[in-house]
Amino acid sequence: MSSGGFASQNGAGGSYTNGPSQNPVGVYSSNHGLMAPPLTGFMNSLTTKGPPPPGPNPYSTGRHQPSPVAPPPHSYSQHPQQPGVMPPPVAPPPSGYSQHPQQQGLTPAPIAPPPSSWSGVTPSPVAPPPSSWSGVTPAPVAPPPSSWSGVTPTPVAPPHSSWSGVTSAPVAPPPVGNHTGPGPSGTGTPPVFQNTMQPPAALQHAGLYQAQPAQMIRPPASSYPPLQPAYHSPSAPALYTQVQPSGGAAQLSPSLAAMSLQSQTPEALRVVNLLQERNLLPSGAVTPPTPCLPQDLQKINCCPEVFRCTLTSIPQTQALLNKAKLPLGLLLHPFKDLSQLPVVTSSNIVRCRSCRTYINPFVTFVDARRWKCNLCHRVNDVPEEFMYNPVSRSYGAPHKRPEVQNATIEFIAPSEYMLRPPQPAVYLFVLDVSHNAVETGYLDVVCQSLLENLDSLPGDSRTKIGFITFDSTIHFYNLQEGLSQPQMLVVSDIDDVFLPTPDSLLVNLSECRELVQDLLAGLPQMFSGTMETQSGLGPALQAGFKLLSPTGGRISVFQTQLPTVGIGALKPREEPSQRAHAKEVQHLNPATDFYKKLALDCSGHHVAVDLFLLSAQYCDLSTLGCISRYSAGSVYYYPSYHRQRSPAQTERFQRDLKRYLTRKIGFEAVMRIRCTKGLSIHTFHGNFFVRSTDLLSLANVNPDAGFAVQMSIEENLLDLQAVSFQAALLYTSSKGERRIRVHTLCLPVVNSLSDIFAGADVQAITALLASMAVDRSVTASLGDARDALINAAIDSLSSYRSSVLSVQQPGLLAPACLRLLPLYILALLKHRAFRTSASTRLDERVFSMFQLKSQPLPFLMLTVHPGLYRVDDLSDKGALYVSERTIPQPRALQLSVEKLSRDAALLMDCGTVLYLWIGRNCNPVFLTQVLGVESYAAVPLNMDQLPELDTAESSRIRALIDWLRERRPFHPVLHVIRDESPLKADFLQYLIEDLSESALSYYEFLLHLQQQICK
Ligand SMILES: [Zn+2]
Repeated sequence: MSSGGFASQNGAGGSYTNGPSQNPVGVYSSNHGLMAPPLTGFMNSLTTKGPPPPGPNPYSTGRHQPSPVAPPPHSYSQHPQQPGVMPPPVAPPPSGYSQHPQQQGLTPAPIAPPPSSWSGVTPSPVAPPPSSWSGVTPAPVAPPPSSWSGVTPTPVAPPHSSWSGVTSAPVAPPPVGNHTGPGPSGTGTPPVFQNTMQPPAALQHAGLYQAQPAQMIRPPASSYPPLQPAYHSPSAPALYTQVQPSGGAAQLSPSLAAMSLQSQTPEALRVVNLLQERNLLPSGAVTPPTPCLPQDLQKINCCPEVFRCTLTSIPQTQALLNKAKLPLGLLLHPFKDLSQLPVVTSSNIVRCRSCRTYINPFVTFVDARRWKCNLCHRVNDVPEEFMYNPVSRSYGAPHKRPEVQNATIEFIAPSEYMLRPPQPAVYLFVLDVSHNAVETGYLDVVCQSLLENLDSLPGDSRTKIGFITFDSTIHFYNLQEGLSQPQMLVVSDIDDVFLPTPDSLLVNLSECRELVQDLLAGLPQMFSGTMETQSGLGPALQAGFKLLSPTGGRISVFQTQLPTVGIGALKPREEPSQRAHAKEVQHLNPATDFYKKLALDCSGHHVAVDLFLLSAQYCDLSTLGCISRYSAGSVYYYPSYHRQRSPAQTERFQRDLKRYLTRKIGFEAVMRIRCTKGLSIHTFHGNFFVRSTDLLSLANVNPDAGFAVQMSIEENLLDLQAVSFQAALLYTSSKGERRIRVHTLCLPVVNSLSDIFAGADVQAITALLASMAVDRSVTASLGDARDALINAAIDSLSSYRSSVLSVQQPGLLAPACLRLLPLYILALLKHRAFRTSASTRLDERVFSMFQLKSQPLPFLMLTVHPGLYRVDDLSDKGALYVSERTIPQPRALQLSVEKLSRDAALLMDCGTVLYLWIGRNCNPVFLTQVLGVESYAAVPLNMDQLPELDTAESSRIRALIDWLRERRPFHPVLHVIRDESPLKADFLQYLIEDLSESALSYYEFLLHLQQQICK
């Protein structure tokens, strides 16, 4: 395996690989694996290269290219909860991890100060609050290009006449005999299609699988763009030669013929010379490819926003996959808020007796009484009660049952899915009240937000709540009914934390609401004068774990500094002086395993810990974050939070909190991902603990969590037309129901490289590569990860060139479906997680890595490749109409300074931040009608809100911004940027197509790829 690739690092115990997972079943095995040999020269060339190679100026012709905004987020309205409480069962605690030493029994050590009153805080004399632990401010970013006029783009590349003038590196003649296209691969792939395949009998019965005409089934019009006429024109020779699968179409069953790519080159395989086609962004959102399945099956297939695969056509063999050099994996958003979700109550949930797969739309009914599992192929009996369809109230048509008609469905589980009675929703808040914490002002925001949202916390009449505050000591709060006011109990022995009054610290929210409200109202003042600077986070977390371990639940931790005392105390590790331009980044691994071990204890008791880190100082997120990563929690990070000094961050914090407190939650969850026999899942990405090979332990599950898994093909899929993947999420709802949400995805199996490439999902591939690169950064090095990313692009495009194209020509060639891959890879190289070109604080880098591993794909892609839109000329043409609102849909632009016309205003959507850039000569109408100012010079330097003006221009842009912001897990703040704005450098960093201080421009990057591919 190539050291430059991703193949060798799985599960090596690195901190980003969970649990006992995962032999690195070589997805990219064979000779040098996915990746080409390490490109040692590349890194050096970053600093030593001379002027870019002569080339055309791709930038001069770029008018604003239409391209639409991302698809509207699906409606997020919660489906109605089914009434009827089923006692939720609890899964057994994982057995595979070791408990850290528990305190044996409570040793009621005498509490220091008597809990007499609120004023019981004993402010110990303390040193002054730590000043920022280093005075070093991040090195300034590359100076912005001086000229902003649209035409001279990057500061480097002298303008060249045209793209076509490029004499790109001579292309080596195709190796004889190796370019005949996607025929049977060298491994002697058997002619699969010669097997006479019958459509699944049951589907025939069900009428789902009627003979299709032998033609390629086109996905619905919106999926594949029509063929480009240019492709057939003489000037664009057809490079792609159609290669028939051995056996030919005549032998295919009608449905198979429909599933394979036959008569014409699909748009996905249109040859694109990246060095000549400058504008690659689609006219609409980048949509995932539609699997080539019979339409009836595709119509009920799982929604790609919930469940998608990097390859929508699965290679028949691992050898074929190796040859394609594309990563194979699944991306999941299993608990996504859905507008529609069928819910079934059944005393007998029908599952395969052999592999426990839930019955689903892709099983086969052998006859009216038997169904064949689509994962293990066992034939099962149809239970008598399944013959009755509660929806149609008819008998004898099991294939019409909702379970067989919906790829996403939820069951209310009977008692056999429970190991203990349903636990109530339990929420514990653990709050840093050290001097540093109080100084930021965050406590007021948290208390206020909780007061406002107490009624919206998911739960029922049994919901429990509790609070712990901490500095150098731990403070508990007795909120027992009957007290006239909350009672604070201080435990100063942090080396042996115990619960002073275990029964009154977690209370019923509805019974003790007044005391809870009193506490929240009084908490900020209680510590307002504190001089205590120490932070005993570890002991506070231990206390929280003890409190919640009997029931499970959620711990929300708010922390503002490096923990300094007690177990889990940490020392600063970052060397700020080496932040800028360091080739390698140290300390991506945790400094101690305390937080990981505690997280595993929490996970075993169904406790998840969510971490809110609010700090301008280094807090060692790579260590602290383990508490959330392994307990299936969430991590939030506000790097320069201060209530007065950063109002935009305060706004974001408030909005995030509201979403956090009110979003759906599932407790005591486990998720299992199954796939058709022959396929194997071997590496997981996300926040969880891997309990067994395919079982993820999720103490909590939330609707903003994304997951990814890598797969390999262990047995050839020769006899299969299609394979299926099923994710089953078992959880306890906040109302005490045990539920199972099941998603099933079906994908065709193909035996030619061209079909594999045609089904490549470039965004899913990018997201999976990003997760793999995070692992590689931690287990090997950042440099290795960067090389592996570059090699991923080189290898896949090399494979395409050598194995799919039959006519060679100069240039950097990609199939249309992968034309964005090099751009996305470059974007990852410039992403905060992986960049080496700009000073990046360690915590910010680590947070970005967390995000890449745990965010659902659409949000992740925005942080990788932001959307850029011209907004000074918004119109209603092509607008969306959502809930009686008109939402303009401007075209997405390339991320280049060339798009920053002096007379324009542009909106950049980076996922967690929005920038509204104002050109120096921006239309005065925009300035007055949208910003409410008379001139460019009057635009405030720190503007982060748009005034609500009663003008059409103002309404349009605010509608667009509101729409972009809706339902994201993180609230993106808005910054209005002009030349003199302090945040302008941040904004410019996102223009990833441009050259930066020590990173390649997009065009240079393409040339580099081309050199590597053609050498
Ligand atoms: Zn089965």
